[in-house]
Amino acid sequence: MSAPRNGLTSLLAQRIASSGPISVADYMAEALGHPEFGYYRGKDPFGAAGDFTTAPEISQMFGELIGLWCTNSWLALGKPTPFTLAELGPGRGTLMADMLRALETVPACRAAARVHLIENSPRMRERQRQTLSAIDVIWHDSIGGLPMAPAIFIANEFFDALPVEQFVRHGDGWHRRLVGLAPGGSGSGTELVFTQAPTPCPTDDLPAAAKNLANAAAEAGAIVETSPASRQIAGEIARRIRSQSGAALIVDYGYAAPAIGDSLQAVHRHAYASLLEHPGDADLTAHVDFSALAHSIRQAGAACWGAIPQGEFLRRLGIEARAETLTSTATPQQKSDIESALERLIGDAQMGTLFKVLAIGPRAADPPAGFLPAEANEETYKSSCD
Ligand code: SAH
Repeated sequence: MSAPRNGLTSLLAQRIASSGPISVADYMAEALGHPEFGYYRGKDPFGAAGDFTTAPEISQMFGELIGLWCTNSWLALGKPTPFTLAELGPGRGTLMADMLRALETVPACRAAARVHLIENSPRMRERQRQTLSAIDVIWHDSIGGLPMAPAIFIANEFFDALPVEQFVRHGDGWHRRLVGLAPGGSGSGTELVFTQAPTPCPTDDLPAAAKNLANAAAEAGAIVETSPASRQIAGEIARRIRSQSGAALIVDYGYAAPAIGDSLQAVHRHAYASLLEHPGDADLTAHVDFSALAHSIRQAGAACWGAIPQGEFLRRLGIEARAETLTSTATPQQKSDIESALERLIGDAQMGTLFKVLAIGPRAADPPAGFLPAEANEETYKSSCD
């Protein structure tokens, strides 16, 4: 409770003292993206020495299979040449490097690919520049900067970093959750605390799970989340795919149907940390609401499939055969590393089930590799969350 304030705590405390509590989404956006103190601006969070490890950092197999998925989509789209290969939130650039190696198996596809990275952190851009030094890369702050052309989009653990709004259940409805100052004033030692708007939020602004009548009886204190930024970006990708042709693959941890629950979490050095104590020092994420993304995608006029479990998707793309090929020439140590990486990526107790995969394409009739026709995401729930 008596942790010293960091730079961002002071800035936020001043802002709250002068203009009132801020929304959870504003807080998350500042903690991750503040130009001076934001989490992704200050350090490289990946790997054993960092705060978390992502699938491409676990094994090259992940990026290679996604690269093969891209070649497959490119062929199915009629070999558009050139085409944009766009990755959102590329981290260290590892996924793109592994994908491009796999694209070489279809030389015309590799030759047609123009690599564009959507990354708003100068620090992460620098890291990507090092990993991809041999490749022509164009960076953008947002997908609005991409050229109008057929495009294949990849996003792994990008959407979980986008800000979420939260709403807390009370007897009279759902109140927007806010970040304010602990009672005791705005002097030194002030801490940030969760609070809520005094009046309930209009129903139109609530996520689908809160509009569901059955949830009107949710226990006091229950929380629902929605990520307007995620829905907006998913819709923008879908509009581009509808008008320019293309495909997209979104991989993240999250839930496939609207749900009640507080998934906001802070992680520092591979352990859970306080959400409010050291903004900018810990990674902040929320689980992705895939049904809300699917809703925005369909509204934008594109087709989508899933979300299906990551383990299922990677198995269908042949990850077990790929692991066997790699182990056939490996030392005993390498063999055991490959086997444990495989288990981490597809095991039910690891990333296989919690992580999910959603694909976007122009037409519902043509499921992309790894998806079955029956997995086309129809209107599974009726709501107007946009
Ligand atoms: N895809 C990578 C890293 C995921 S971490 C991997 O699988 O390893 C999230 C990445 O998204 C980081 O590179 C971060 O800087 C970037 N990012 C977060 N919010 C962003 C935003 N609003 N716009 C663009 N990039 C963002």
